[in-house]
Amino acid sequence: MAAALCSRRGRSRGIMFEVTVEDTFAAGHYLRNYKGKCENPHGHNYKIRVTLAGAELDKAGLLLDFKDLREVMRHVIERLDHQMINDIEPFTVINPSAENLAKYFYDESNGRLQSVTKGRVRVKDVTVFETDTTTAKYSE
Ligand SMILES: [Zn+2]
Repeated sequence: MAAALCSRRGRSRGIMFEVTVEDTFAAGHYLRNYKGKCENPHGHNYKIRVTLAGAELDKAGLLLDFKDLREVMRHVIERLDHQMINDIEPFTVINPSAENLAKYFYDESNGRLQSVTKGRVRVKDVTVFETDTTTAKYSE
């Protein structure tokens, strides 16, 4: 019985908790190398959805406190909120498409969370809503 439990523990790949938080901000952007309406400066009310994953909970039974995830997201959002995104690194060079914004939020929040939780929690995916019905998702 004990042996069976042990080997089961070793195969914990399928056992995953997920936590999701959404937040919003407003910002302007335009797309380079693009022909159409979006080559002109315009604004969006963006919604960002970040989902975390991990196999182990902390002592309080949480994967991560919702407010801690919200704080990590706020840190990134504050850089972009009410700004022209094209004027902010790295979007001075790469296009501020919903796809690239999703990767930006992924990289910024994943690095921070992995170090804070010593690798226990990672970002599973990030979805950027440009409108209610159009989204781009990034995961690794
Ligand atoms: Zn746009």
